[in-house]
Amino acid sequence: MLKTDDCGGLRAGDAGRVVTLAGWVHRRRDHGGLLFFDLRDRSGIVQVVCNDATPPEARAAAAGLRPEYVVQVKGTVCRRPQGLENPELLTGEVEVQATDVTILNAARTPVFYINEDEDVDESLRLRYRYLDLRRPSMQRNIILRHQTVKFIRDYLSARNFIEIETPMLIRSTPEGARDYVVPSRLHAGCFYALPQSPQQLKQLLMVAGFERYFQIARCFRDEDQRADRQPEFTQLDLEMSFVDREDVLALTEELFTALVPAVSDKKVMYSPFPRLSYPEAMARYGSDKPDLRFGLEIADLTAQAAATGFQVFRQATEAGGVVRGLKAPGCAGYTRKQLQELTDLAVRAGAKGLVWIARGEVESPRRGEGESPQSGEVRSPAAKFLSEGELQSLIDGLALENGDLGLIVAGEEATTSSALGSLRSELGARLGLVRSDVLAFAWVLDFPLLEWNPDEGRYQAVHHPFTAPLDEDLPYLETDPGRVRAKAYDVVANGYEVGGGSIRIHRRDVQERMFRAIGLSDEEARAQFGHLLEAFEFGAPPHGGIAPGIDRLVMLLAGAPNIREVIAFPKTQRAADLMLGSPSCISERQLRELCIECTVRAET
Ligand code: ASP
Repeated sequence: MLKTDDCGGLRAGDAGRVVTLAGWVHRRRDHGGLLFFDLRDRSGIVQVVCNDATPPEARAAAAGLRPEYVVQVKGTVCRRPQGLENPELLTGEVEVQATDVTILNAARTPVFYINEDEDVDESLRLRYRYLDLRRPSMQRNIILRHQTVKFIRDYLSARNFIEIETPMLIRSTPEGARDYVVPSRLHAGCFYALPQSPQQLKQLLMVAGFERYFQIARCFRDEDQRADRQPEFTQLDLEMSFVDREDVLALTEELFTALVPAVSDKKVMYSPFPRLSYPEAMARYGSDKPDLRFGLEIADLTAQAAATGFQVFRQATEAGGVVRGLKAPGCAGYTRKQLQELTDLAVRAGAKGLVWIARGEVESPRRGEGESPQSGEVRSPAAKFLSEGELQSLIDGLALENGDLGLIVAGEEATTSSALGSLRSELGARLGLVRSDVLAFAWVLDFPLLEWNPDEGRYQAVHHPFTAPLDEDLPYLETDPGRVRAKAYDVVANGYEVGGGSIRIHRRDVQERMFRAIGLSDEEARAQFGHLLEAFEFGAPPHGGIAPGIDRLVMLLAGAPNIREVIAFPKTQRAADLMLGSPSCISERQLRELCIECTVRAET
């Protein structure tokens, strides 16, 4: 190798050793006779010094160094003079007195600082990702990702799981999201699809008798992008035979509980993971991926509200809706502007409006000079429509104490939940309740199997069509599909869905009933899923699994703001790779070979 040691590994105990190092010039300081530069490799940084004792050629080479030049340095490790140690660096007690400095490659001035964690425009970072990845924070994220995946591989291998690769070029199947497709040259006019997940293949591996499978699997979904989505992403895909729900939950829980302290300084907040049914998660937290790092639970006020004469509440409850609210502790003094911000947030999340109740004893900027707040004074735009007793029942329902602010939303259950869910997240952040040192994992269970798709006029699978219904709900699959619950589960953490899975259907007749329930004719089902239906006739074992998202998991472990920070070469929100310049046009020849005629030519 061009080096004997790693820069970041040198310590006081190495003093006196002659070493050869290689790396990048991180920073340089020229003090006339004394020239210092910091040399960086993956392991860290060490200070190199050229002084009077340094041979002239080495000094000359060092004098020509610029940031990010690639250099090889030979020299002796020395203790730094007393008082000049740098406690910020692990190598801060030593420096290397150079005897040889060889420039291995020059570098253009970097387009942004590598040696400072300054805010850089993200498109510039993505265009020059190889430079961005040199930055210590990005190196940490990518190394954390490696450690996470390695831990998972070791953990599952020790528990008798087998890693099996499944193909990237598969068949397009209507599984939920839009497929990415690849044209076939040998079968003109036909297309492969890239897997949205290896779902069917892992089930077929169970039919094949492998019993315990996993894969660090790349998945592709052509969906509109959000902060925590990418067109291609990575899942820990796993499947087990002869299990029920508890077995999959237990394995996942044990894996995460062991993983978190092994690779990060975060703590798992709850053990065992709390379990919420889907309706409970929506009612108490306004989200199917609740952030359980803080309380702020939603209270149901429907009964109290229905008994009032307040038009807004009456209309909602008479239409079969709900009235629910949230306590914002210590926020009674919120200004008109702050209340408007919360109202706007609720409206954006689908609420018609927001009713607030502030309970006394806080300095309010709205209060006129000389007026002092009364203990227990209650202010609310709804007060004039409510009797004192009615107002009190709402205050009791929200458990408002002096200084608290109550936020109430009335309307359909779904929109009320999501509005209060948004308010809850916002308040968690505003009130500083969101701890950054923990992962609050939880399970959300008992999802509905099917949901009505009004655009297509049919039911669709909430999870995917291979998920088994709860045994006791199976009889309703034809008669009342909307009430059937699924043997599905999501693992959530800190407000994110980390993964989902289910116990699967393993009998042909049940799978056929499921396909019918989502509006597929028997012919369509056979055409699209014949391979699976057929496989179920050859002795398919009961099986189930889960697929936690690696990107989101590492993002949470790293405390990163989005998944792009933990992916080496991510795409933008518009699904473009700014470094490679993809997607791009292909040549006429390539198109001809594929028998594809392009009616649109994008600008390149
Ligand atoms: N294939 C599913 C998904 O990607 C996960 C699972 O059911 O195991 O969501």
